[in-house]
Amino acid sequence: TEYLRRAKAHNGELNAFITFDEDKTLAEAKAADALRAAGNAGALTGIPLAHKDIFCQEGWHTTCGSRMLENFIAPYSAHVVEQCRKAGLVTLGRTNMDEFAMGSSNENSFYGVVKNPWDKLAVPGGSSGGSAAAVAARLAPIATATDTGGSIRQPAAFCGVTGIKPTYGVVSRFGMIAYASSLDQGGPIGKSAEDCAMLLNVMAGFDERDATSVQRDKEDYTRDLNQPLKGLKVGLPKEYFAEGLDAEVASAIDAAIAEYKKLGAEVVEISLPNTRMAIPSYYVIAPAEASSNLSRFDGVRYGHRAAEYDGLTEMYEKTRAEGFGWEVKRRILTGTYVLSHGYYDAYYLQAQKVRRLLAEDFQRGLAQCDVIAAPVAPTAAWNIGEKSDDPVAMYLEDIYTLGVNLAGLPGLSHPVGFAKNGRPIGMQLIGNYFAEAKLLNAAHQFQ
Ligand code: GLN
Repeated sequence: TEYLRRAKAHNGELNAFITFDEDKTLAEAKAADALRAAGNAGALTGIPLAHKDIFCQEGWHTTCGSRMLENFIAPYSAHVVEQCRKAGLVTLGRTNMDEFAMGSSNENSFYGVVKNPWDKLAVPGGSSGGSAAAVAARLAPIATATDTGGSIRQPAAFCGVTGIKPTYGVVSRFGMIAYASSLDQGGPIGKSAEDCAMLLNVMAGFDERDATSVQRDKEDYTRDLNQPLKGLKVGLPKEYFAEGLDAEVASAIDAAIAEYKKLGAEVVEISLPNTRMAIPSYYVIAPAEASSNLSRFDGVRYGHRAAEYDGLTEMYEKTRAEGFGWEVKRRILTGTYVLSHGYYDAYYLQAQKVRRLLAEDFQRGLAQCDVIAAPVAPTAAWNIGEKSDDPVAMYLEDIYTLGVNLAGLPGLSHPVGFAKNGRPIGMQLIGNYFAEAKLLNAAHQFQ
């Protein structure tokens, strides 16, 4: 209750949460007590957590940041939500996000922008800006989030907290509202790598209801946290430290690399030559998949429906015109275009080929090192409103995070310092498939 009181009291300043439901939170807390009384408590039983508003949660408003789902109450829970519940975690509330997870600043939310707790003029990053801001402001100890092109790592960096996007398939997408299904992946945001490891232990796991869920033995992501880093080979991709990277971000990362060397790491330069093609490839594939996934929001099955209309076609048109925001419409149009007859080969197929090249780049790079160290974003958090009228400027901010999703690799972001204006700077660690424990180990030793 103390957490809930604090979260509610401070949410007015930050807008990190879209929904609170005190009765439900208290009921979950009681269930956690019962779990403990029965001797079945786990490491996180009774710990409050915030869920990104993209994970369906039975009986809770689940909006995905959209007007389309303003009055939608989920009839079932996502696998991630079920797992958290079984572990005795207690839902504090549902966090704000860019509409349907499309954005890098949280300015695309129908429920208003989230403020960065370090500087209320700054964006918190996106799309999981609410989760990152809630953890940074200590309104929630941990939060769930999702990452399709950087939405865990970039807001974690902008808010000075830690987040990890696991290997594609580690966390079930069942009940996680789909944006771009071949890229979407859930993961934790916490104040430290250790907290993320503990929450990932709960979130990860095979689930037959997600056809891309990976069937492998349950892993304990905390097991390697205390391994010494002696001999760890850290690769620095030269294309990531080139033109476009802000000098303050570069020097914060240099200092962090020096720290990693002190911890025993060796540094090698590597090359990811196709890096500059990540943005065009992602911004074809993601909208293509989105245009297909979002066709279900038609006013018939669930969600918003226009109040007045003349016939079915007009009902669709009005519903979608009212229910979706501008960025979502832009992506549906782009996606439909690149998939249409005559353009499919020129855009969508090309983008898929580039995707393969990017994945191959990473395999060559990771053959020379254990982990890749990189920036998360070219700059620290920008001002609210600064880029919101310029979608291309916003897309360019995703240059260092998109490749990881296109390749399906795990990526972690941890804080390494501050810009002169006091805004946090993060660093990214990228590993090979299923190397989550290694990334968490490195970040934990650094922290
Ligand atoms: N900023 C990227 C986009 O707008 C990534 C978002 C995400 O990872 N959900 O698509």
